[in-house]
Amino acid sequence: MATFRFEALKAASNRPAVPVSEIGKKSEIFGSNVFNDKAMRQHLTPEAYKAVRSAVDHGIKIDRKMADYIALGMKEWAMSKGVTHYTHWFQPLTGTTAEKHDAFFETSFDGSDPVEKFGGSQLVQQEPDASSFPNGGIRNTFEARGYTAWDPTSPAFIFGTTLCIPTVFVSYTGEALDNKAPLLRALSAIDEAATEVAKFFDKNVKKVTPTLGWEQEYFLIDDALAASRPDILQTGRTLLGHVSAKGQQLEDHYFGSIPTRVLNYMRDLENECMLLGIPVKTRHNEVAPNQFELAPIFEETNLAVDHNSLLMDVMQKVAERHHFKVLFHEKPFKGVNGSGKHNNWSLATDTGINLLSPGKTPTSNLQFLTFFINTIKAVSNYEELLRASIASASNDHRLGANEAPPAIISIFIGQQLTKVLEYLEGVSTGKLSPAEKTDLKLNVVGKIPDVLLDNTDRNRTSPFAFTGNKFEFRAVGSTANCATSMTTLNTIVAKQLNDFRKEVEALVEKDGLKKDEAIFNVLREYIKETKHILFEGDGYSKEWEEEAARRGLSNHKTTPAALKAKVSKKALDLFAELNVMNHTEVEARYEIELEEYVKKVQIEGRVLGDIVRNHIIPTTFKYQNLLIENIKGLKEIFGKDYEEYATEQILILKKISMHINELNAKLHAMMDARKDANNLTTIEEMAHAYCDNVKPYFDEIRYHADKLELMVDNELWTLTKYRELLFTR
Ligand code: ADP
Ligand code: MG
Repeated sequence: MATFRFEALKAASNRPAVPVSEIGKKSEIFGSNVFNDKAMRQHLTPEAYKAVRSAVDHGIKIDRKMADYIALGMKEWAMSKGVTHYTHWFQPLTGTTAEKHDAFFETSFDGSDPVEKFGGSQLVQQEPDASSFPNGGIRNTFEARGYTAWDPTSPAFIFGTTLCIPTVFVSYTGEALDNKAPLLRALSAIDEAATEVAKFFDKNVKKVTPTLGWEQEYFLIDDALAASRPDILQTGRTLLGHVSAKGQQLEDHYFGSIPTRVLNYMRDLENECMLLGIPVKTRHNEVAPNQFELAPIFEETNLAVDHNSLLMDVMQKVAERHHFKVLFHEKPFKGVNGSGKHNNWSLATDTGINLLSPGKTPTSNLQFLTFFINTIKAVSNYEELLRASIASASNDHRLGANEAPPAIISIFIGQQLTKVLEYLEGVSTGKLSPAEKTDLKLNVVGKIPDVLLDNTDRNRTSPFAFTGNKFEFRAVGSTANCATSMTTLNTIVAKQLNDFRKEVEALVEKDGLKKDEAIFNVLREYIKETKHILFEGDGYSKEWEEEAARRGLSNHKTTPAALKAKVSKKALDLFAELNVMNHTEVEARYEIELEEYVKKVQIEGRVLGDIVRNHIIPTTFKYQNLLIENIKGLKEIFGKDYEEYATEQILILKKISMHINELNAKLHAMMDARKDANNLTTIEEMAHAYCDNVKPYFDEIRYHADKLELMVDNELWTLTKYRELLFTR
């Protein structure tokens, strides 16, 4: 009998909901483990507090002496909450977070003078011996040093008994080795670019902050069941398993009542989030069985990115207490929906305006249209790069597969705004007559808020949709670090806004147009140039793929194909021009992502091979022997007439043997393809070989294994089945 599977099932189905005690009103506990403004005012001297504030608000450097004072206050605050260790918390190019804990504790070599210490130098800079993080050739191994440097714009926080200090991770030559450093540079680029454009409409704007509200989808399964599946443990998804009879077709899970065990997990998680200052707000069941979603109130992008990374870590830790495992993979199960991470994005001014929200006056609406159309233009110019920013082995199972959204980047804006753009397209060239201006004011820019109110059409198949007061980038993978896509999006929009400003200024200076006339003129041309990126129809349809090809939109279905756009001349120039990444930094990331792709597919291939050899085939042999015994017995009893009574058994025996033969043949072919791929010299060639020559075997192998699952005695089958993984609670 398949003991491990049945023991896991027994454990999972007897699992009581873990009780969770409320720890106080959310508004009262929110951020109590964060060294936030309130804590800083309490624990820092007025000078030290001012230094941090000007670093956060104006990017002013903090000197070492001041850092000492800040560290002192931070240590006092942390120790008052039972903290013993500190760590620089960073986001290396593995996509996850990293930490190395050091105790505050210090003593002299003979053990005298033990003391708790934490100085400015420990706060500001640390040198983790982090030579094993991917660096894409930026660091030679003999100079494998990188250092972490404090990012005061994301406040320090306490997790467990450790003080975590968000940091960037850079090489000694200054190149970014992480996801945060380029993000911070992109945010500063868009702040500069957007502030200048916002000043067209309001001279008082001094700062523009990109905002991000992510929505995180995930699956929860019992940890005993997860442990019973080698594929889930090692790859985060099921490589095999026949689809269960009941999946999501009844749509009885979506927004349904949340099972108690899960609800308790969510409550526990939300409490932790509150302490950490992660403003989670929404929780609900998603479409697939055992799939859920969590969404926060949006925040400044850098903080939101940190909070998402932290959350993913915390989710897994809290899950342990509830005997759950969180699956972040984009496609953990065949046959039911996968998971994504919608990135809701907008731009906010320091005067309290959302630049992507229509306002009350014609001027504020022209401002809205300016940022709205410029975003469309940016995406239209760099659709391929945006696609590249979300490419990964796991996200390939959504994009370009039979899953939401497609690999083609298009923008949904809704019928009403489409009409507004159509109208603006007819604006006269050059100076506008007073009658035309009045008409525009009354009938177009004056009416936007009304039209948006009844703009209820929400196209769920669009990868990039305007949803009333923000754009929603839906193609981001659920495992992704939001920094990659946000760095790209903010960079391309920054570039576009810079270009726009120059064009408007040129029309004003050279052609003597009024500013609003110039703006209308430039926007009109943008509307004409970007029509091909706008799409309102069904993004999953075959017709759209054909139509998109006619429009010249890219459709890269696999990571190796999609990533190439990152190192195009256009992309390299873009990142360099805006000081987001130099060529070395971009090329290093390209290399690292290809490498990661190869490793992921390689591991999946090996795990699949192991499972087939160690589980499927031996189990099937056992069942084959049972059948043989049975047939032999029938022959003993019935003599030459036995076949009449053993028809079905013989048929199954033949089918099983055929599937085993096929399995073995495909397995060998896959191993050969892997060997060939490993012998290639460049990482680019390897990635393509793994994608085109190795990966296709996964489905073929799975087909036969899943057929066997349907035939072999359930009592013998060692791998926990889909119905058990998806419906045990
Ligand atoms: P849904 O897309 O599921 O219908 P909502 O539209 O209500 O949900 O919002 C989803 C997410 O959008 C939330 O996480 C919210 O914080 C975020 N959001 C709302 N406004 C903004 C904004 N101006 N900038 C960035 N994110 C925003
Ligand atoms: Mg959404």
